[in-house]
Amino acid sequence: MSKKILVAEDTEAMSRLMVGLLVKQGYTVETAEDGEACIEKVGTFRPDLIILDIMMPKLHGLDALKRLKADPETRSIGVMVCSAKSYKPDLDHAHDAGAAAVIVKPFEPGEFIRKIRDFFSGVPSSDSAGTAAPSAGPAGEPYLPALETGDLFYRLWGTRGSVPVSGQKYARHGGNTSCMELSSGDDLLVFDAGTGIRELGMTLVSQKPRRIHIFVTHTHWDHIQGFPFFIPAYVPGFELIIYGASGFGKDLKSIFRGQLDRDYFPVQIEDMRAGIEFRHLDDKPVRIGRCSVTAEFTHHPGATVGYKIEVDGKTIVYASDNEFLKGFLGHPSSAAKEPELLFPYQKLIRFASDADVLIGESQYLNDEYRSKIGWGHSSLSNGCLFAKVARVKRWIVTHHDPLHDDDFLQRKLNLTRRLLKELDCPATAAHGFDGMKEYL
Ligand SMILES: [Zn+2]
Ligand SMILES: [Zn+2]
Repeated sequence: MSKKILVAEDTEAMSRLMVGLLVKQGYTVETAEDGEACIEKVGTFRPDLIILDIMMPKLHGLDALKRLKADPETRSIGVMVCSAKSYKPDLDHAHDAGAAAVIVKPFEPGEFIRKIRDFFSGVPSSDSAGTAAPSAGPAGEPYLPALETGDLFYRLWGTRGSVPVSGQKYARHGGNTSCMELSSGDDLLVFDAGTGIRELGMTLVSQKPRRIHIFVTHTHWDHIQGFPFFIPAYVPGFELIIYGASGFGKDLKSIFRGQLDRDYFPVQIEDMRAGIEFRHLDDKPVRIGRCSVTAEFTHHPGATVGYKIEVDGKTIVYASDNEFLKGFLGHPSSAAKEPELLFPYQKLIRFASDADVLIGESQYLNDEYRSKIGWGHSSLSNGCLFAKVARVKRWIVTHHDPLHDDDFLQRKLNLTRRLLKELDCPATAAHGFDGMKEYL
C-alpha cells in the first residue's frame, strides 16, 4: 500500500506543486489549507507523513507541530516542516519541536523528493538548518550592479543666504552662507566664498598645496565673507584664481582687498602667502581640466552672475541669487501663458535649460515676497516656474532665508514639491544643506 502524505500548506500554488510531485511518485496525498484543518485531517486521514508549512493561518505551523507531538495518538507521525524562512533560530525551533526534517522554500523538485524518500527509508535528515544555498536566479549569474566610479561631485559647504545662522533650530540645513565645491578629478572649482568656505579650507590645508579656482557670483557679504578665514590663502604653494563679473562699482580685487582693510580685519591681503590672482569674466568659457564654465547675469542687484559647468556630458547650473519674474505675484501658470512676462528672462532660461542639476533659490514664501520685491530673490512659486521653463531635471534649493528654521524649511519643501506637481514640472526638488554631496 502506498504511503499517505498530508500537505498542510496555505499557498495554493505551492500546495499544488507539492501534491503534483508526490502523486507522480505514487504517494497518496491529501491537503489542508490551515493549521486547524491540518489537525482535523490527521484524525481522519491518518497520514504517514505530514508536510507542514510554518506560516499558516488559524493555527501557526509550529503550534500545530507541538500539538501533534503532545498527543499520544499522533506523536509517531513524521512531520516535515516546510518554510520560506531559512533562518537558523527558526529552523532549530522546528527541530526542537520534533520536526523530522526541514524543507526550505523554494526548493528543487529532485531535492524535495529525495527528502521524502530519505524519511521513509529511515535516512536521518541531512538538512543543516539555515544553509539554503544562495540563488543566482534563473539567469545563473549573480546580479552585481557596479558602483559609479566617477570622480565628479559637488558639495555644498554653505546654503544660507544673507547672514549666517546657528543653533539647534538650524542643525538640519546648517547655517553657513553660500559656498559650493565642484570636484572633477584633480580639478577643484569653488563657487562663492560665504562662511561655508572656511570649513572647505580646513579640509584643503591637510592636503598638499594645489590650484583652486574660486568663482564668485557677486560680492554681497554672504558670498565673500568667508574668504578672510579661508586658510589655504595663507599657505605658500596654494594658488587661488578668483573669477567674477565686472562692470558695476569697484573691480573684484579692490573689493576683496577692501574687506581685508585694517578697519575690518587684522590681516591684510598682502599677508596672504598663497598666490592670488583675480580674473574678470568675459564671454569665453573658462576651461579647467574637463570642465567648461560659462556665466550669465541673473536678476539681482549689481553684477551678479550664475555659472554653468559642463563636464563629462553633465550640466550643473549654480545660480544662487536670482529674482525670477520680479514683482509678479500671480499664479505661475498664468505667467506661463503670457510670454512677454518671460521675455526679460529668456537669456537666463536658455542658459539654464535642460540642466541636470540647478542649484538655485526661491528664498521667500509668496506672502513674504510681497514686501520684498526688488531685494533680488524669487518667490517660491516664481522659483518653481523657473525650474519648469528651464526644464531642469533636478533642483537643489539653496540660499535659505535666515528667518527660516528647519521645521519651516521642511514644510516649504513640501509646498515646493506640490507646486512643481501642479505646474506639471518633472524636476525632482530637494533642499541643499551644509555638507550635502552628490556624485554626478
Ligand atoms: Zn546672497
Ligand atoms: Zn546678493
